[in-house]
Amino acid sequence: MTTSPSPTTSAPPTQLTRALAENDRYAAQFDRSSLPLPPGRKLAVLACMDARLTVEDVLGLRTGDAHIIRNAGGLATEDPIRSLVISQRLLGTEEVIVVEHTGCGMLTFEDGPVRDQIASETGKAVDLPLHPFIDLEANLRAQVERIRAHPWVKNVPVSGVVFDVGTGRLRQIA
Ligand SMILES: [Zn+2]
Repeated sequence: MTTSPSPTTSAPPTQLTRALAENDRYAAQFDRSSLPLPPGRKLAVLACMDARLTVEDVLGLRTGDAHIIRNAGGLATEDPIRSLVISQRLLGTEEVIVVEHTGCGMLTFEDGPVRDQIASETGKAVDLPLHPFIDLEANLRAQVERIRAHPWVKNVPVSGVVFDVGTGRLRQIA
């Protein structure tokens, strides 16, 4: 008997199976093995993880062009700042674009009730701010300001844009 790496109680990982099959096709036509490590366009993007926002397509980026840092909301919390510091100090990026979007899931809930729900489901206190927001543009401006003002982030251009999930258009806010 061999030991399976997957949990014994779960259903088969159908998305992984599909992803590995898709990768076979990708690898068969892969021609980007000689790209340098530093991003070619010296750009770092911080964006929401929303499934409707394909950052590469929206911004016209190709493999090797930019660092794309994503999380729920496109927020400049501690870990994205870590990534930006590495992007700038070690890999030479010289501009930051923050991308948030209409219809963001972070506009749809409140921190306290969701944390209470998770606590009741898990029996563990939830000491994790989820950082929902109620004003998209104000939130985006705050992320841009936080990046601009951060002592370890370089003094480079930092912009904030809203992606409209209905039209595909970007609107500059900051
Ligand atoms: Zn979002």
